[in-house]
Amino acid sequence: MAWVQSLLDVLFPRPCVGCGLDRKGQGEFLCELCRDHVPFILPPFCTTCGRPAEMEYAYPTEEFECGLCRKNTYRFDRARSLGVYTSVLKELVHFFKYRSHPGAIREITSLLEQHFDPLEERYQDMQVVWVPLHRRKLKERGFDQSYVLARQMARLCRLPVVEGTLVRVRDTSPQARKNRTERMANVRGAFQVAQPEAVAGRRLLVVDDVFTTGATVNEVTKVLKQAGAERVDVFTLARA
Ligand SMILES: [Zn+2]
Ligand SMILES: [Zn+2]
Repeated sequence: MAWVQSLLDVLFPRPCVGCGLDRKGQGEFLCELCRDHVPFILPPFCTTCGRPAEMEYAYPTEEFECGLCRKNTYRFDRARSLGVYTSVLKELVHFFKYRSHPGAIREITSLLEQHFDPLEERYQDMQVVWVPLHRRKLKERGFDQSYVLARQMARLCRLPVVEGTLVRVRDTSPQARKNRTERMANVRGAFQVAQPEAVAGRRLLVVDDVFTTGATVNEVTKVLKQAGAERVDVFTLARA
């Protein structure tokens, strides 16, 4: 129950999920220091998949494409993430996803509002869809975290959310602890477009929580493009 949890938070503020220190009297999830140290992804990053530049790219310029994108690994047009999936964002996603904590999505939303510029990403005229859970998992968890995130992104970017378009037809095993090839095989055929007419000729923004190898969003892009989507961009909160 969300309101019970909110009340508990006011009465007994939990320690900062980033550093574990007490944040006396503060209502949010992160202390000021940890909020200032969220590992946001800043340029230079790959113009296609958003991968942050690493040392192997000796002199990355503002416009560079990573090795994977040069090999045409991905089917989406562009992917962007708010930050790197390490300590602070990892904890927030965990509280949001597995403990359905309302404070965590509030904190995530406020980070998005302050640090993500939808105008810069040229999302105008796009429609938002999300990577859906299988109905069995939805029943188990009670909510779809990517849908909640997609709603926040849509509000922030002033874009419509298209509901019921994409369906997960196969309950896939968790992607964690699988390598790239295993992940690709695991999600193959997992998604279907339920309403092709809502996709054909559209420019879509697919929202998900974490981008690891990109296998899931790649598979989603494949079915959306097969259904005639003109363009598919991807936004994830975090990037592993
Ligand atoms: Zn902290
Ligand atoms: Zn790339």
